[in-house]
Amino acid sequence: MLNPSAHDDAASATAAVRPWDDDASRVLALVSQKGGVGKTTSTVNLGACFALNGHRVLVIGTDPQCGLSRSLGLGPQQLRGGLREVLQAGLPLADVAHATVLPGLQVVSSDAWTMSEEEQYKSLMAGQARAFVAAVDDARASFDTILIDCPPGFGPETRAALLAADGFLVPVQAEELSRDSLARLLDHVRDFSAAAAGAAALAGLFLTMTDHRTRMSRRVAALLGDEYGDSLLETTIPRNTRLSEMAVDGRPTVIFDRRSSGSRAYFDLMDEILVRRLRRGRSPAAPAPRAVPRIAAAVPEPVADEPPRRPALQSAAGGADRPRSPARLLDDLRRDGGRGDAAAGGFAGLLDREDEILEASTDLVSLDDLLEEEEHGARGRRDEGDWGYGDDYYETVN
Ligand code: ADP
Ligand code: MG
Repeated sequence: MLNPSAHDDAASATAAVRPWDDDASRVLALVSQKGGVGKTTSTVNLGACFALNGHRVLVIGTDPQCGLSRSLGLGPQQLRGGLREVLQAGLPLADVAHATVLPGLQVVSSDAWTMSEEEQYKSLMAGQARAFVAAVDDARASFDTILIDCPPGFGPETRAALLAADGFLVPVQAEELSRDSLARLLDHVRDFSAAAAGAAALAGLFLTMTDHRTRMSRRVAALLGDEYGDSLLETTIPRNTRLSEMAVDGRPTVIFDRRSSGSRAYFDLMDEILVRRLRRGRSPAAPAPRAVPRIAAAVPEPVADEPPRRPALQSAAGGADRPRSPARLLDDLRRDGGRGDAAAGGFAGLLDREDEILEASTDLVSLDDLLEEEEHGARGRRDEGDWGYGDDYYETVN
């Protein structure tokens, strides 16, 4: 965000009903050095989770391959304009935003389908980064949360996204090569941010396509935890075929199979991002978030024919009167009025209950509780220490 003052008026007029605590955390770019690590999948599903949580969400696909709009079932026939029009003719993003199956979720595509359109788009992105930043800044008045999906690497699209965003998220595959490329990416971003005031700060790394059965996956996760500490988010996205089916279905996985392990993980990821933001927003000088066992350290070697077990959580997590999980609190707030209706509790109420949330954050799995209770009306397997990732936990994509 280069020009926060442009939004002060709009932000203060609607501050009481903003889902985010402040204006400086709600544009997130998904970047990585490597392709195929889950940026687009994460953008779509996180965007859908935020939309289901009551946010007005815009997802922007800056990849010239239009992977984001394709994942949402939108091709050249359905789209009428995209980033090229924004960069060339100065159209607002809202004017080229396309509806999706979710009323709260809109998408803007690079909308470059031929070779010449792609070339044109790339040179516009390289030469008109400021126009992109200004368009995103303007869109803050119309959307609560904006997610920007980037192509792999550190090209003009990623640089423009980093200038426009408040924070960036990095999906990382738990494999040795990803560790190397991650270090390179973060070096690039550090240099870039030093030169370009206002560039996005690291909002977190998260592991994707994890497979707890493999020793390599657990080892790399442990090393990343050691190297990046609290920058590595606690939520991991498992390898799950439902996520890979999204492009075929043309809808976010969290819509067509909400109970899959992949969907649950994305709801957890959203909760973690929100709770972290609330923590930081309330007390910038607060100590670093409490260290939580990383998956590699926490997960024992799986026993044949038995799903891996989540380590026993602290006393508060097991009792009948334990604090509510962050997901439960957020879910209560959704029922209270979602958009943050202060009178009804809403997100303003969330701030008043920060202590409760922070205490509850010892409980790392979120949607599982809700789903178990929805289905059975009783506490489920989590109290017995189950990971709760469901039957498709072991599904892999080969
Ligand atoms: P990127 O945008 O980083 O290039 P994608 O999100 O397009 O990566 O994912 C690359 C491929 O991997 C796609 O075919 C996608 O469906 C699949 N995929 C992504 N995340 C997962 C996951 N957690 N489990 C299984 N397949 C996944
Ligand atoms: Mg992609």
